[in-house]
Amino acid sequence: MKHTKLSKEALKEIRANAGRGGLLYRDLAKKYGVHVMTINYWANDVLKEKAKAAKRKWTAKNKDYMKEYHRKANQALKMEVLSHYSSTLECACCGERHIEFLSMDHIGGGGAKHRKEIGLGKLYHWLKKNNYPAGFRVLCMNCNHAYGHYDDCPHNKKDMFK
Ligand SMILES: [Zn+2]
Ligand SMILES: [Zn+2]
Repeated sequence: MKHTKLSKEALKEIRANAGRGGLLYRDLAKKYGVHVMTINYWANDVLKEKAKAAKRKWTAKNKDYMKEYHRKANQALKMEVLSHYSSTLECACCGERHIEFLSMDHIGGGGAKHRKEIGLGKLYHWLKKNNYPAGFRVLCMNCNHAYGHYDDCPHNKKDMFK
């Protein structure tokens, strides 16, 4: 079915009245000299557009909400696990206390392999699920890096970078 193109003015009025029903559509059809089905067609178009926009808005809002929800849940889990391994919440080597810098260290290495086995990003879940097994400690990123790459930390007053 071909639908007559309508004037901007007519479309504006349809937009404002879309979804209000047949009687109004009939009035609009009379006013603009077109078939009521034409009004109906454009009104449905407007309604579809509105529904799509509403869905987009809901999805965007929900995405932010879920992102925030997961961020908070992950933070809480990290705090819970760290506090099991360091009641004072600090790096076992240098005493760093900014939570943002702290992470779990596999004492004696093997961390990369273990993380691969249990899945990337799953260590905190894994530690909690396994009732906080021994062999782990809290280290800051710097100390963690030093132990990982040099098997020791310069905080131990050794000059390892030769
Ligand atoms: Zn440290
Ligand atoms: Zn250190």
